[in-house]
Amino acid sequence: MTWSVETFLGSKSMTTSGRRIVIVGGGVMGSSTAYFLASRPDNEDEIIVIERDSTYAKASSALSASGMRQQFSTPANIDLSTFGVDFLRKASTVLALGDEKPDVGFHENGYLLIAGPAGEQTMRDNHRIQLDRGAKNVLLEQDEIRRRFPWLSHDGISLACFGLAGEGWFDGYGLLQGFVRKAKALGCTYVSAKAIGFLEKDNRIRGVELEDGSQISGDTFVLAAGCWSAPLAASVGIDLPVRPRVRSVFSFSCRSPIDKCPLVVDSSGVYFRPEGQGQFICGISPDPDPDDMPLEVDYTQWDEILWPALASRVPAFESIKMTGAWAGYYEFNTFDHNGIIGAHSALRNLVFATGFSGHGIMQSPGVGLSVAEIIQNGIASTIEVSALGWARIEDRKPVIERNVI
Ligand SMILES: Cc1cc2nc3c(=O)[nH]c(=O)nc-3n(C[C@H](O)[C@H](O)[C@H](O)COP(=O)(O)OP(=O)(O)OC[C@H]3O[C@@H](n4cnc5c(N)ncnc54)[C@H](O)[C@@H]3O)c2cc1C
Repeated sequence: MTWSVETFLGSKSMTTSGRRIVIVGGGVMGSSTAYFLASRPDNEDEIIVIERDSTYAKASSALSASGMRQQFSTPANIDLSTFGVDFLRKASTVLALGDEKPDVGFHENGYLLIAGPAGEQTMRDNHRIQLDRGAKNVLLEQDEIRRRFPWLSHDGISLACFGLAGEGWFDGYGLLQGFVRKAKALGCTYVSAKAIGFLEKDNRIRGVELEDGSQISGDTFVLAAGCWSAPLAASVGIDLPVRPRVRSVFSFSCRSPIDKCPLVVDSSGVYFRPEGQGQFICGISPDPDPDDMPLEVDYTQWDEILWPALASRVPAFESIKMTGAWAGYYEFNTFDHNGIIGAHSALRNLVFATGFSGHGIMQSPGVGLSVAEIIQNGIASTIEVSALGWARIEDRKPVIERNVI
């Protein structure tokens, strides 16, 4: 990669005419967008973020497992994450407020994706794409897996892919707070209110209607309301294929030491990673995976799927103890499980930043940058994200990502 965070921050925008940009949703996508819009030295636009809950109690950004990986099969997803790595490494500087430097706790312990016989060829194909995009991932054959991770059971493993750098996990809530605080310090206004719909006239969005009956007018609008985005799009007749889907995360303790544990994604679909000394978190995408369920932990997953799978992959996990659990929503793109980044085809002043289906928080710096460029220059020029634009939804041409977790 030849670009970096500083490349964008030092550049000039092509249009700085003092417009008003209204962002609906102040989670990590909306706040990253606000930060990138406001951070250019020549910015003259007024930036308003409408966020209904400043505690972010149900926001995905506050309930995320916050993993970072480049192990995708789609170039745009790999590039967005690679930009995210650069950003996380510099976050304490670029998001600093005077002497106050946010710590986003980036643990570069790697991801270890495990393939059984059925997934081996796909893993090799994906790895080639990742190397082409500059990812520092290696394929590990049986002997090497044994040498690096002696605490793993190797039953049913054909191949694994491991991130040597730029992969791991971080403090997603810390990143969100870093974006919010810096965006406010740069002059963005956060309005505490619930949006109930957009107002449209002559093929342009003119404003946002709030629950108290008031309206906020603007020139450009960003829809970044996470899993709650679809009803807002529906208010102007857009069928946005983004739905809330519940994901349960369980924490557990393990007395035996697990040396140099990365974020492991087993061939069964179960993932786990360390979360402090002797503590871990884990989860799995449920099957079936219905839309719009209440935000509640599905404890049957622990007994019936997770514990048995964990114990068979790591013998030391036979005597673990579950210590807690929480549930959050994926903002799931039911069309192709990828983010939607860019303007609507007819309502050109409505820009989407939603639908990231479980890989959004790692991509949030790259998405904020791309949306800011689309608004300021008409095109995202730093990262090639056009494949993730609205056109594919309209043309019914899904972008197939083989590594959705
Ligand atoms: C359990 C779990 C694990 C995850 N693990 C990972 C991971 O390992 N790696 C990764 O990259 N991603 C992961 N994700 C996904 C990631 O967290 C999300 O993609 C990301 O946080 C989405 O950010 P967002 O800003 O779009 O949504 P949110 O954080 O949900 O923010 C949307 C905001 O919009 C506000 N809002 C909604 N409607 C309105 C309205 N009408 N008016 C005003 N405000 C409104 C909400 O209050 C909310 O604050 C995970 C998610 C979950 C739930």
